[in-house]
Amino acid sequence: MPNTTDLFAWLDTCPTPYHVSQMAARVLADKGFIRVTELASDLPADGYILRDGSIHVWRQAERDSTKFMVIGAHTDSPNLRLKPVPDIERLGWQQLSVEIYGGVLLNSWLDRDLGMAGRVMLADGRTKLFLSDSALARIPQLAIHLDRDVNEKGLQLDRQQHLAPVWGTSQKYSFATWLADQVKCSPTDIAGFDAHLFDITKATLLGADSSLIASGRLDNQVSCWAGITALAQSPRQENKTVVVSLFDHEETGSQSATGAAGPVLEQLLEALSINQGLSRVQHFDRLAASLCISADNAHAVHPNYPERHDAQHAPSVNGGPVIKVNANHRYATTSLGHAHVKTIAQKTGIPLQVFASRNNMPCGSTIGPIAATRLGIDTVDIGIPQLSMHSARELCGANDPSELVRFLSALIVS
Ligand code: ZN
Repeated sequence: MPNTTDLFAWLDTCPTPYHVSQMAARVLADKGFIRVTELASDLPADGYILRDGSIHVWRQAERDSTKFMVIGAHTDSPNLRLKPVPDIERLGWQQLSVEIYGGVLLNSWLDRDLGMAGRVMLADGRTKLFLSDSALARIPQLAIHLDRDVNEKGLQLDRQQHLAPVWGTSQKYSFATWLADQVKCSPTDIAGFDAHLFDITKATLLGADSSLIASGRLDNQVSCWAGITALAQSPRQENKTVVVSLFDHEETGSQSATGAAGPVLEQLLEALSINQGLSRVQHFDRLAASLCISADNAHAVHPNYPERHDAQHAPSVNGGPVIKVNANHRYATTSLGHAHVKTIAQKTGIPLQVFASRNNMPCGSTIGPIAATRLGIDTVDIGIPQLSMHSARELCGANDPSELVRFLSALIVS
């Protein structure tokens, strides 16, 4: 049975992108990576830049770096987030006003015990993370007696009317009072906040044979964990600088300062080239020789819905990492990149699978095409197969996360 201790600790303590970037920083600091707050001409050999819910990590080449290898993943997952003025009182209930972030499978958030996590900006300029994983809130589903044909007609949810969670029946707590308690300050000290709801159920092995993992946010924290783990345990390469970029806001299109469409990765790569004494033209040459792995989960074939997959391109859980291909470039994989990673997988004895969507079913996308467009680096979209993508609780194979680490490690040293 694979060792899931580190992965589960990561999943259980990272309900928001801010917690993911902090967790990655903690793992890296233990391995001697040095945090820098701005790009400079004397970057450490092993370092990282943390900005909000994103983190960019590098391990510079031993000498004569001729190429980069970039591993990209995203720290965010679809969820429910509090609006700036969240307190609602209705019919004796205390409720919270929420916004829907990304492509949430809304039904999966009903009748779950929800915790809350995020960050608070204090009036004195400090930012504090908070995480409350006790049963704090719940979105109660309407009883079947009051919605008789819900099973036949399907659940209809009005996104404004039906998703406000209840979190009490007394007027004792305003949200500001509760939040101030979390970070041990006075409500008047709070200048701003980001507060996300999450299912408090911990990650667990599942199945009579314990061959599955059930958890929230497998998409895409498995890739974040795998990328950081692979880099932290890999030896320094003689002529390859390895970068792991964990971006925020992929689930809403990556258009933000900390998303894959933002400038930080591009700026970091150029700064690393300058650090190694390269000219701008040499930097461009180096980009052209580089490889980017866009790591994000893939759709495993569902036993109850096999018709939703192209039969030739239907990955199985515990079947190994999946290469995602799309002729319309919703995934960035080129045949050149595909061939390259396939050869390495074969040499290392790692089984690979391939996903292409049905022609009558549009596929999702990843940070891959965005990174490829911005950087001009040959990119391959890779991810572990999973079910229930964008549910509050997702499902993947127990062997696949460690296989992804093994594969990324093999690519780093190739
Ligand atoms: Zn994803």
